[in-house]
Amino acid sequence: MPLRVCTIAAEFTPFAKTGGLGDVVAALSKDLHHRGADVRVFLPLYSTIHLEGIEHHAVEFLQDVPVEFGQHSYRVSVHTIRVPRSPLWIYLVDCPAAFDRARIYTNDADEHLRFLLLTRAAFECCQRMDFAPDIVHCHDWHTAFAPLLLRAGYGWNQRLFGATRSVLTVHNIGYQGSFGAHQADDVGVERSWLHQADLLAGRVNPLRQGVIYADAITAVSLTFAREIRTPEGGFGLDGDLRARGESVVGILNGVDYEEWDPSIDRHIPHRYGPDSLADKRRNKHRLLEVMGIPADDAVPLFGMVSRLTVQKGIDLLPGVLPDALASRDMRLVALGSGEPHYEAFLRGLQHRFPDKVVFHCGYNEQLAHWIEAASDYFLMPSLYEPCGLNQMYSLRYGTVPIVRRTGGLADSVQPFDPATGEGDGIVFEHYDANALRWAVGTALDWYARPGLWERIARNGMRADFSWERQGAQYVALYDRLLAQR
Ligand code: ADP
Repeated sequence: MPLRVCTIAAEFTPFAKTGGLGDVVAALSKDLHHRGADVRVFLPLYSTIHLEGIEHHAVEFLQDVPVEFGQHSYRVSVHTIRVPRSPLWIYLVDCPAAFDRARIYTNDADEHLRFLLLTRAAFECCQRMDFAPDIVHCHDWHTAFAPLLLRAGYGWNQRLFGATRSVLTVHNIGYQGSFGAHQADDVGVERSWLHQADLLAGRVNPLRQGVIYADAITAVSLTFAREIRTPEGGFGLDGDLRARGESVVGILNGVDYEEWDPSIDRHIPHRYGPDSLADKRRNKHRLLEVMGIPADDAVPLFGMVSRLTVQKGIDLLPGVLPDALASRDMRLVALGSGEPHYEAFLRGLQHRFPDKVVFHCGYNEQLAHWIEAASDYFLMPSLYEPCGLNQMYSLRYGTVPIVRRTGGLADSVQPFDPATGEGDGIVFEHYDANALRWAVGTALDWYARPGLWERIARNGMRADFSWERQGAQYVALYDRLLAQR
């Protein structure tokens, strides 16, 4: 009998993605399927998902299914859709009342209900499909009620769920999805199942509920798994995480090299590998030409692709980049969107250095690939970073990452040591402008030394973060949980 996994998530690349969550859920699901598991993934059919041109069909026996909880009553219909370039099909939960919105995430008053609906719909579908999962795997706050619902909401169905074990993966602890205690009945379980101190404080915290009830909690890197158990890194959940003891484990994310490899990348003009770095330079020339800034082999290009939030360390840039751009020869291409004052800073930088800086405000998958391929350095000065994918993409693209030593950045980038020639990135320790200034200065100095940048880039291209390795750790965890039944 194959391993049966029910995955419930708010994002799945390429259908719905705002960051690493979508990439990881998709890649892990494909990897599990590849290993022979029966993986059933449930994702909302957001109105931003366009089904034209993608293989899909309605699931006949999952149409107009009532999903009722608290005072709320919805009807959902399920479509199945094929993941591009993969044999995996996933389920999209259609419910316009909840998912017909301009964006994946909203600030609407029913935000918690939208994802409770998704989570409950997944259980309802399992029942109608007569699918008894070995593992229910939920991701981040959106679906973190799944472990609780497995016991309190659907525990009566012992035949289907009696032996099911739950896993919560924490991709980002900064978002916990809290809502008011006056809406506690929306969860649709007795209040005694909810965290009492939170209720007294006037709120319900979905991520905390997941931490308390999941059979295992995974964090997306070993360092992040340590950090979230400390008061500095726990965002208020460190005590609950420490209380879970060995049920909390770190598993570094993998990279989907079918999507992120410069030798096969569909999005870039010139494909290349470690032995054809000249073609990487052609990507740089082409990008800068398209962007309208002069290209020069002797001048390094720094790339950035990021959500523009506090987490990503954007606050360090004003203390470093204007001076560096004014005094040194360098180029910067940044892609991202987020908080308006960060967007304004990058726009201002482009205005001040029109021959050196391009800021593309927005979300653009193709440009994200192209920036990885074209850049000599990738800037990722994160304040905190659970895992981070872009630095791992950068390594494969021979784009030397400049990172702060935090979370998954610490676990995936090895500081380059000119004395030994070992290492694949530039790593700084302290979250301050001086440290980043040192890192950017070092990058510029090393670029000027013949052959040195190539050495670091080639070292990075050898690093292997494939899901064959990382996926095996999830399977081992599932096996451990199932052995305890
Ligand atoms: P996070 O999940 O915190 O945003 P990660 O590094 O784990 O950070 O994942 C970010 C993912 O989102 C990468 O695949 C990156 O290329 C993508 N991404 C972020 N911002 C943009 C953007 N503006 N346009 C295209 N892709 C983006």
